Amino acid sequence: MPEIKVLSPHLVNLIKAGEVIENVASVVKELVENSIDAGASMINVTLQEAGLKEIIVADNGCGMSVAESRLSIQPHATSKIANENDLFNISTLGFRGEALASIVAVSKFKVKTCCDGSRGYMFTATAGEITSECLLALPQGTEISVRNLFYNTVARLQNLKSEAIELSHVSDFISRIALANPHIAFKLTNNNKTILQTYGTKSVLEVLSNIYGNDIAKEMVAIANTTACFRLSGYISKIAVSRSTRSHVNLIVNGRIIRNSNILNWVTEAYKTYLPLGRYPICVLDIIVDPSLVDVNVHPTKSDVKFSNEDELKELIIKTISDALSKTDLTVSLKTEAQEELLKEEPQDETVDFESDFSYNIRFENDNKVEVEKIEFDDFEAKDEVKAQILEEEIAEVEEILSTPKQKVIQQEFKFDGEETFEEPKRKLPKMYYIGQLFGTYILAQNEETFYLIDQHAANERINYEKILAEFKKDNVFTYELAIPLKLTFTPAESLLVDQNDDKIRELGIALENFGGGTYTVRQIPLWIKRGFEQEYVEEIIMQIIAGRKAEKYQFLDSLAKTLACKKSVRGNEYLSEMQIEYILEDLEKCENPFTCPHGRPTIMKYSKYEVEKWFKRV
Ligand code: ADP
Ligand code: MG
Repeated sequence: MPEIKVLSPHLVNLIKAGEVIENVASVVKELVENSIDAGASMINVTLQEAGLKEIIVADNGCGMSVAESRLSIQPHATSKIANENDLFNISTLGFRGEALASIVAVSKFKVKTCCDGSRGYMFTATAGEITSECLLALPQGTEISVRNLFYNTVARLQNLKSEAIELSHVSDFISRIALANPHIAFKLTNNNKTILQTYGTKSVLEVLSNIYGNDIAKEMVAIANTTACFRLSGYISKIAVSRSTRSHVNLIVNGRIIRNSNILNWVTEAYKTYLPLGRYPICVLDIIVDPSLVDVNVHPTKSDVKFSNEDELKELIIKTISDALSKTDLTVSLKTEAQEELLKEEPQDETVDFESDFSYNIRFENDNKVEVEKIEFDDFEAKDEVKAQILEEEIAEVEEILSTPKQKVIQQEFKFDGEETFEEPKRKLPKMYYIGQLFGTYILAQNEETFYLIDQHAANERINYEKILAEFKKDNVFTYELAIPLKLTFTPAESLLVDQNDDKIRELGIALENFGGGTYTVRQIPLWIKRGFEQEYVEEIIMQIIAGRKAEKYQFLDSLAKTLACKKSVRGNEYLSEMQIEYILEDLEKCENPFTCPHGRPTIMKYSKYEVEKWFKRV
């Protein structure tokens, strides 16, 4: 065996760097956290080529003396803890004293710092060694520049992602840290272009508006509550605003931004009855807890924490969010201010009243006597349905409805345009006849020889999945122009990825226009998207594309079809009209694989007449 030796400090730091410094965003994170610990009220992050060429973080914090700054790049040099007790009472973001040492090990490093507003010090370092230094006049604060990241660790260098992806990670981090520190003014620029800016006004709502735009900030509800050990405050979105991932649930614990799957689950639980499956809120949850009750030393990048008294926190979070939601007027109004503005630009179709937030419902009572009732729209779907009705149904048709004894079912089953012209496909299941609905979740059906029990959600999911996938597989995506363009807003991080993926988005028939500031309009969408679901679908498609789940085109479209199918399918515990059930039965009979949902769960159980008769000992 070779002789045993202690590794050189540089080698130790190179190894350490592997743990803390993964990419541009992790360098930015460490430097910005140091600036916050230094008490800065202004932090500028300036990148060249998304930081692959250069990262500069400048602050107006306390600065360092010459001796301190020389020491700062040594491993385990920290001003933040001194003894074992401090480790269990941490109030700063840093404490391990390893970030600067790690960054210096893998980059060309330069510090300019000054702690008295006049006499400053600058040095450069390579491979952990100071290579040049000088004294110079500087304003108070620290500016650290990191060039050629990973120049000496090829594997890490190759792991760096494209500029857009690196930049989106940085922007995502700055968004979160700005939400956690509304008293600090942050500015992120790349190649001299401002990506994100906040103003240090102490208002979380203002930071939310800087990140998500005004329309979304306006839809946020403030929350605040305390228990013996925890203080919770922040903002949560109403149901009109939701996202397809949980990454917009921003968690802050004692000023540290964390990801914690338990808390995410509790938030999801609190929203369970308010948001459809697969939709998540935008939240900022700021949790203050006695530092001795939280362990921040459980993760190399300190991105998760462990709480004592978790049950108390769980109850606090679920209760506070549920109470806030139950007290808030969650009515979704169709018209946002931005849509109004767009409407002004668009020539309006005179026959349709897009402006009103209510419409009229025709009721049938007292032997065809018609009563007209004004109804308020409480969701997009109802509005769309009635709108579609006004558009499509002529007076003659209304007369026909009047002569029908039953109220016409307003909710129409989803049909793709042009579907009628398809050849009748071969049925995998025999014709089934509706009997009834069980527990609001299962459809009972029969034919001469068989009794069927069908999971309505699974079946509907299968039907929609096959329809959507069939649309995706067509060579030409049929698209149409929207009379009222959709308005989408993305965070700066998302916008970068949206722009980068513009061609992939267009391939699916969605034409986007970037209005700047994270705002996009969509004027053209694929024909297959269900009316009334335009916004939700387009958003979902784009989010999936930018989430980089597009490994291989077919795989991506397949998973997209699954998600969309799940979204638009009827749920369990949802009572359906006879007509809706008949549509489901008919469509399921035509499916290529009517027996399982796209996730593999069974859709249908059958019992032969013989089996049923055996249960009752008739045979
Ligand atoms: P840690 O943050 O864990 O202490 P770092 O390696 O990140 O370790 O930083 C080492 C030390 O350098 C810090 O403890 C702090 O004293 C000093 N330092 C780093 N960045 C700054 C800054 N921007 N302003 C003032 N001091 C800083
Ligand atoms: Mg640090």
